[in-house]
Amino acid sequence: MRLLGHRSIVDLFFPKRCVLCDGTLSGEEEGICGGCIGKIKYIEGDVCAVCGRTVSDNAELCRECAGRKRGFQGGRFPLSYELIGDSVFRFKYANRPEYGAFYARCIVERWREWIEAVDPDALIPVPLHKKRFNKRGYNQAEILAKEISNLINVPCLPDLVSRVKNTAPQKRFDRKQRQINVKKAFIVNENSVKLSTVIVVDDIFTTGSTIEALSDVLKKAGVKRVYFLTITAAET
Ligand SMILES: [Zn+2]
Ligand SMILES: [Zn+2]
Repeated sequence: MRLLGHRSIVDLFFPKRCVLCDGTLSGEEEGICGGCIGKIKYIEGDVCAVCGRTVSDNAELCRECAGRKRGFQGGRFPLSYELIGDSVFRFKYANRPEYGAFYARCIVERWREWIEAVDPDALIPVPLHKKRFNKRGYNQAEILAKEISNLINVPCLPDLVSRVKNTAPQKRFDRKQRQINVKKAFIVNENSVKLSTVIVVDDIFTTGSTIEALSDVLKKAGVKRVYFLTITAAET
C-alpha cells in the first residue's frame, strides 16, 4: 500500500465521492471536494424553538409547531433542503453511505451547544424494517447516528427500537396519512428503559410523524425527553 500513499486499494475500486456534486474525491479531500466546500452554508438566524425551521421576525415557533402539541421536545438540523436534498436522496437510495461522516460533522459543528444543553444519554437512529435493510444493505440513520456518536462521545443504541411494520415510504403521503402509516410501526425491545433524555437521529425531518411515533413508544417505555437531529428538513 506504500505506493498509494494513504489511499487504500479499497478507495481505487470504490472511490470516495463528494457529498454535493458526487464527483470523485482526491486523496486529501474529506467528504466534500474543493469546488463545493464554499457552497456549504449552515442554517442561520432565528429558528423555531421546537422543530428548528427558520422563522421570521424573532417568532418563537413556526406555523407548523404553533398550531399543535408535539410529542417530542424539539430538534435541529444544519442544512437547507435546497442545498442538500439531492445529496440526502443519494445517501438513502444510491448507495452512498460514506456521505454520513460529512453530514455528522455539519450537525455537530452547527449545533454543538444545543446538543450540550440537551445533554442526551443516548442517540437512537430511526430503525429500518428488516426487509428494507436487507434490500438497501445499510440503515442511513444508523450510519449518521454512529458518526455523531463518535464526535460527541454519547452512546448510539441502534438495537433499542425495532421497526415491526414495513411502512410505505412517507414521502408518498400527506400529514394525516403519514400519521396513520407510522402508527404501531415501532416497538421498544426493553421493558423499562433507564434513559432520561435521548436524541432520535434521522436523515430528513418532514411533518415529524416518524419522530412523534418513535417518541411515543420511547416515552411509554420510560424515557422522559425525546429530541431529534437530522441533516435537513423538507417542506410539508
Ligand atoms: Zn463537489
Ligand atoms: Zn416548528
